[in-house]
Amino acid sequence: MINLFSYNSINQHKNTIKKINEMYKHIKSYPDVLLAEQTIKLKKMLSSSDIKNKKILTEAFATLKEAIFRATNLELFDVQLLGGIILNNGNIAEMKTGEGKTLVALLPAYLNSLLDEGVHIITVNDYLAERDANLAKKIFSYLDIEVGLITQTTTSKERMNEYKCDITYITNSELGFDYLRDNMAIHQNDIIQNVFSYAIIDEVDSILIDEARTPLIISGATKIQKNFYHNAEEVSKVLEKNIDYNVDEKSKNTILTAQGINKCEKILNINNLYDIENPWIKYIINSLKAKELFLKNKDYIIKDNQITIVDEFTGRIMIGRRWSDGLHQAIEAKENIDIEAENKTLASITYQNLFLLYKKISGMTGTAKTEEEEFNNIYKMNVINIPTNKKCLRKDMPDLVYKNEYVKWQSIAHECLDMYKIGRPTLIGTTSIHKSELLSTMLKELEVPHNLLNAKPENIIQESKIILEAGRKNTITIATNMAGRGTDIILGGNIEKIIEEEIKEYIKETFNNVENDLNDTKINSIIKKIKLYSTNNIEDQKLIKLNKIYNELEKKYTKLCKNEKDYILNLGGLYVIGTERHESRRIDNQLRGRSGRQGDKGTSRFFLSLQDNLFRIFGGNKIENIINNLNIDNNAPIESILLTKSLDAAQKKVEAYFYDIRKQLFEYDEVIHNQRKAIYKERKKILTHVFTRDCIIEYGEQTIKEMLNIYFKNKKEEKILKEIIKLLNIKTDTQELANMGSIQLKSYLNEQLRISYDLKEVYLEQLRPGLIRQLEKYYLLQQIDQAWQEHIDKMSLLKEYIGWRSYGQQDPLVEYKNEAFNLFINMITYIRQTVIYLVMRSRLIIEP
Ligand code: ADP
Ligand code: MG
Repeated sequence: MINLFSYNSINQHKNTIKKINEMYKHIKSYPDVLLAEQTIKLKKMLSSSDIKNKKILTEAFATLKEAIFRATNLELFDVQLLGGIILNNGNIAEMKTGEGKTLVALLPAYLNSLLDEGVHIITVNDYLAERDANLAKKIFSYLDIEVGLITQTTTSKERMNEYKCDITYITNSELGFDYLRDNMAIHQNDIIQNVFSYAIIDEVDSILIDEARTPLIISGATKIQKNFYHNAEEVSKVLEKNIDYNVDEKSKNTILTAQGINKCEKILNINNLYDIENPWIKYIINSLKAKELFLKNKDYIIKDNQITIVDEFTGRIMIGRRWSDGLHQAIEAKENIDIEAENKTLASITYQNLFLLYKKISGMTGTAKTEEEEFNNIYKMNVINIPTNKKCLRKDMPDLVYKNEYVKWQSIAHECLDMYKIGRPTLIGTTSIHKSELLSTMLKELEVPHNLLNAKPENIIQESKIILEAGRKNTITIATNMAGRGTDIILGGNIEKIIEEEIKEYIKETFNNVENDLNDTKINSIIKKIKLYSTNNIEDQKLIKLNKIYNELEKKYTKLCKNEKDYILNLGGLYVIGTERHESRRIDNQLRGRSGRQGDKGTSRFFLSLQDNLFRIFGGNKIENIINNLNIDNNAPIESILLTKSLDAAQKKVEAYFYDIRKQLFEYDEVIHNQRKAIYKERKKILTHVFTRDCIIEYGEQTIKEMLNIYFKNKKEEKILKEIIKLLNIKTDTQELANMGSIQLKSYLNEQLRISYDLKEVYLEQLRPGLIRQLEKYYLLQQIDQAWQEHIDKMSLLKEYIGWRSYGQQDPLVEYKNEAFNLFINMITYIRQTVIYLVMRSRLIIEP
C-alpha cells in the first residue's frame, strides 16, 4: 500500500533518518546529566544558525528519541522520525491510527521549542490534552523542557504560566476563546497568550475541516422578545407543509407560499409580514425550521434543560454552541424551554483564521488525503502519506446496499449477533445518537450485550476506557464517530492498563493503614516505583512484595492477552461496521482505520440503504431509477457497480457542497479578519502603551486633517468649522479661522489641540495625579470595543444583504469587500472623533 508519493518522501529523507539513528546510538551512552545538557547545546547551535539546519534537526531528533526511550522504554520507528520531519516542514503527516502520532509530535515540538517562542500542541478534547501532556512531561523531564497543559478548568492565572512553558497542550476551543478574550482585555495584566509561533494540530482534519464550518463566538446577551418566539411557534403549528410552505432539506431552509404569507398576516393581524420595522418573517421562518428541519435527538439533545447541538455528521455534541439568528430561540420555544436572550456577537473568529495567525502550523491525522486540496488552498499545507510501520492487513469489503432502511438495521443487528456468538470484537459506527440507540434497542431484543458510546464530553474519559477495551473477545461496541477518537483499540486488551487496575487493589490493602489519603496520584507513583524496582534494592519490604505481585500479574496477563489476541486474529481481527456513508470519504476512512492497527488483521464493511439521508438528499432520481430498473426484493442486499458508482457520486457531491460552505465562510471571514487584526493591533498598542497621550494627540490630528479635507471640499462651509471647534472643545472665533489658508489652519488647530489638552492635563493632574492616563486608556478601549461590536453586527447584516441580491453579474464577494471597507473606514473615523470629543470634555467631579 505504499504509494508513490510516500515512497518518494521516505526516500527523500532516508539519509536524514539514517543520520538521526547514528547520532541516537552515540547519544545512548550519555549519562542523564549530559542528555539534559543537549537542550542548552542545541540552543547555542541554533543561535548561530536557523531551524532549517539539518544538523540541528538530526541532533535534536536523536536526543529526543533517547529521552523517549529512557522515559517509556519505547524506541521510535523510522516512519515516526519521518512523520516528525514532515511536521517540522509545516505539512500534514497522514499516519494511520495506532502508529504512534502522540510521540511523533514531540520531535518537531522539541526542535521548535529551542526557539524559545513556545510551541502549542492542539488536541480535540481535554482528555487527550491531559493524557498526552502527562506523557510529554515524563519524557521532557529528561531534557529540562517545560510542558504546560490548559483545559477547561485551568484558571486565567494558571493559564498565563502554562502558556509560558516551552510546549503547551491545549484544545482548539480553549485556544480560540483565550485569543478572543485576550483581545477584549481591559488591563495589560489580563493578557495571557504570548506569540503564536508554531502549532502542531493533532487530528487535524477534525479541527480544520469538521469544526471549521461554524466560527467561535463570544457573545453577550441583548433584550429578548420572548412572546415573538412563542407567537411564531403557535403560527407555525397551524401552517401546513406543502400548502403554506415548502421545505428544502438540502439547504436546510423553509419557504412560505403566497397562501402561507396570507395566513400568517391574518393570524398575526398585520399588513406586511416583511416589514423591516416589525420583522415577523424572521421569527416565522425560524419556527418552521425548528418544526421541520431540526429534530430532537438528531440535530440536538436536551441536556441540563438546554438545547445542545449535535453535529449532524459526526454525532458529536457541541457544548456551548448555539445556532445563530434566532434559530436556537425558536427551538427553545418549540421545546418549551426557557428562551435564552438572543446574543450579540462581541467577538468571533473562524478556526481557519485562528490557525493562520501562527508563523508555522502542521498537523497529523489518519485521514487527510481526500481533503488535500482544501488543506493546500487554505492553509498552504501539503498532505504527506507516511507508510505504516508494518503492512496493513485490513480487508475492506464491498458495500452491502439495502432498499429499505429498516431492513438494513436488522441485518446489522443480526451480523452483530453472529459476531457475538463467535466472540469476534465488533465496532459499529453510527452517524447519530438516535441511530445508535435504535441499534442498541435491536441488540437488546436479540440479547446481545454491548457498549454504547455517544461522545458526550462528560463521558470522554469513560468512553476512552471502553474504546480501549473494544478489542476484547465478545465485545460489541456501538459508537458515534467521534466517540473515543484518539484512543486506539488493542486486540486482546491493554495489558498495562489491566494490571494497573488490579494492582491498585493490592496497593490499597498494603498501604491503607499507613497512608490515610491514598489518592490516584499517590497510587500511580507507587505503581511507577514498583515497575522500576530492581532486586538489588532491598530496603522497602512492601515494595518488594508488590513488585513480586506485579511481576506475577504481568506474566499472567501477558499470556492471557496474547492468547486472546491470537484467538481474535484467528477470527479475522477487529470487525468494523459502517452504517451509513458520511459527509466525506475521509470520515468513512476514519471509521475503517479503527481496525487493522499496527499490522493486525481486520475487516471493515459498510451497510447502506437507499433511504439513507445522504442518498435521499444528494442522490437525486438517478439512484431511485437504478433500483426500480433492477427490480429486486426488499430484503436482499444489492451489489451493483452502477449503484456503487452513483453512491460515490452522491457522496462526492456532499463533499463538494460542504467544502464550498467552508470556503465561503473562510473568504468572507478573511475580509473581517484583516480588519480584526488591525483593530486588535491598535487595541494592543493602547493597552501596552504607558504614554497614551500620544494616541490621543494622534487621533486629534487625524480628525482635524479629515475634517479640514471635508471643509475645503465643501467650499469652506462654516458649519463644518463649527463642528471642528465643538469637537475639539476650543474657544476660537470662526471668522478668524475662515480667513486662514489650509496649511495655516491645520497647524493652528493642531496647536490649539495641544494647548487645550495641556491645560486639561494640568488641571486633572492637580486633582488626581495619574488619572488622565487612566482616563485616556479607558476612553480609547471603550470606544474601540463598542464601535467594533457594532461593526461586527453591521458586517453580518451586510453579508445577508449581499446574499439576497447576489444575482446579476457582480461577484457578491467583491461587493462585500468594497462595502466592508467603507464600513471599516467609517468606524475608524467615528472612533477617533468620539474619543476626542469625550477626552476633551472629561471633568472630574469629586464626590463630597
Ligand atoms: P495514534 O495517535 O497514531 O493513533 P498513539 O500515539 O495513540 O497512536 O499510539 C498508539 C500506541 O502505540 C500507544 O500505546 C503507544 O504507546 C504505542 N507506540 C507508539 N510508538 C511506539 C513505538 N515506537 N514502539 C512501540 N509502541 C509504540
Ligand atoms: Mg492520536
